[in-house]
Amino acid sequence: MKIPRTLENEPLGYSDTPILPDSGYHVHDGTRPQPPIVSAPVGAPPSDAVVLFEGRDMAKWRNVKDGAPCGWRLVEEDAMEVVPGTGDIQSVDTFGDCQVHLEFMSPTEVKGEGQGRGNSGVFLMGRYEIQVLDNFENPTYPDGTVGAIYGQTPPRVNSIRKPGEWNVFDILWSAPVFDEEELIRPASVTVLLNGVAQHHAKELHGPTMHKELASYVPHAVEGPLQLQDHGDLVRFRNIWVRRV
Ligand code: MG
Repeated sequence: MKIPRTLENEPLGYSDTPILPDSGYHVHDGTRPQPPIVSAPVGAPPSDAVVLFEGRDMAKWRNVKDGAPCGWRLVEEDAMEVVPGTGDIQSVDTFGDCQVHLEFMSPTEVKGEGQGRGNSGVFLMGRYEIQVLDNFENPTYPDGTVGAIYGQTPPRVNSIRKPGEWNVFDILWSAPVFDEEELIRPASVTVLLNGVAQHHAKELHGPTMHKELASYVPHAVEGPLQLQDHGDLVRFRNIWVRRV
């Protein structure tokens, strides 16, 4: 076997070190596959991301209720905005374990209170909601706060920005695992809002419910990303997903 070498023709690693228990490679093994290169330019999606929305069209989205082309509207700043009454939208692509990036803005015209102000949501696999809400100087029940695993776990912190400012969600999702009817591993999620961790590998009790306890129902290994129409003019932009 050809031993990989550095640019200065030195052996890349070690072959006289202990064997790692999970991989079978030596500690510092130079023959281990190199991590693939992913370019991550400032202000643009990583090169291996599935770009779901970048401002030009909503072709990668459809209405949940009738499967028709996405009924939301394109607005300035390469964003899209909820059109109340059209209902939730979901991606045509489906995902299991993944990294989600999106940006959202609460309506600049502040109206309503509690759950009635700037409400939307990011549903992983079309079932599990991370809450979107204008919680800037607007308290609500904690497990309905922006970033909450809705109806289950409040975020550790509320790092929302003012209405009219863009917020950034970065979400790492581990899909639940089923064996036929049996739950083998619950879903878990890590959520950062504006770079601030709100959940770290937090397990979910099941899909999102309103005023009820959740319990898992087996489903496919992949599902769509879904955004909620809760009647408020919430905007989204720069939406991409990496399968991990
Ligand atoms: Mg919501």
